[in-house]
Amino acid sequence: LMVAENVRKRFGQLQVLDGITMSVNEGEVACIIGPSGSGKSTFLRCINHLEQINGGRLSVDGELVGYVERGGRLHEIPPREASRQRRNVGMVFQRFNLFGHRTALENVMLAPVKVKKVSKDAARARGAELLERVGLADKLDAYPAQLSGGQQQRVAIARALAMDPKLMLFDEPTSALDPELVGEVLEVMKQLARDGMTMIVVTHEMGFAREVGDSLVFMDKGRIVEAGKPRDVLGNPQEERTKAFLSRVL
Ligand code: ATP
Ligand code: MG
Repeated sequence: LMVAENVRKRFGQLQVLDGITMSVNEGEVACIIGPSGSGKSTFLRCINHLEQINGGRLSVDGELVGYVERGGRLHEIPPREASRQRRNVGMVFQRFNLFGHRTALENVMLAPVKVKKVSKDAARARGAELLERVGLADKLDAYPAQLSGGQQQRVAIARALAMDPKLMLFDEPTSALDPELVGEVLEVMKQLARDGMTMIVVTHEMGFAREVGDSLVFMDKGRIVEAGKPRDVLGNPQEERTKAFLSRVL
């Protein structure tokens, strides 16, 4: 469902992604680990075309992301087209970025109403259903400030799901949370995986990666150093850099 081929991204002189090749099949969960600055967030942003790539190609659901191919060359698509593509991809960040002056339900309803022109009634019904799914049936009318970090992050997940994405990207969704709140968010993500959502998850939660991931990628300095079944990469790493990284985080 997501295919990256030799994706390259530079910021000025800095080669942040130096030829990333990986793919994720429909219904699968790919986890990405790696040290700070290795390009994990940048890669997710490229999948969403929030960043332009400088080489290679990316596709989601069989469609090139951000470009069309004409005469053997890639041409950037107009912004409208890019926003349409972006709707296929849900994104959940470390910081939840909820609208503070809107209730949980309003946060979840907003994009479907504004962007997809769904009726308010339909969006409200669907929003309530999604909030129930993430365990917040009793918090529909709560404002973000009245919710714990874990609850806010679950609202953020429901909000992303409201757009019916084909792919969900998670960028360290639990690393800003107090330890006791991490579990509830991971549980929602596990359920989502069980329900068949295709997911790419940048995480430091090795337990989650091992249990839920179909594949695990270790990135360093903009390259994939090692990839495979989570069990193998975590339990029997082949590369020295992977071993060194894991010995620091496990
Ligand atoms: P972390 O684990 O700390 O989140 P990361 O693996 O997500 O790290 P990125 O955020 O992708 O790393 O950053 C990779 C490199 O690109 C870093 O050196 C960063 O400083 C640089 N970088 C990221 N965004 C920009 C930008 N907009 N302009 C210039 N440099 C950038
Ligand atoms: Mg990051």
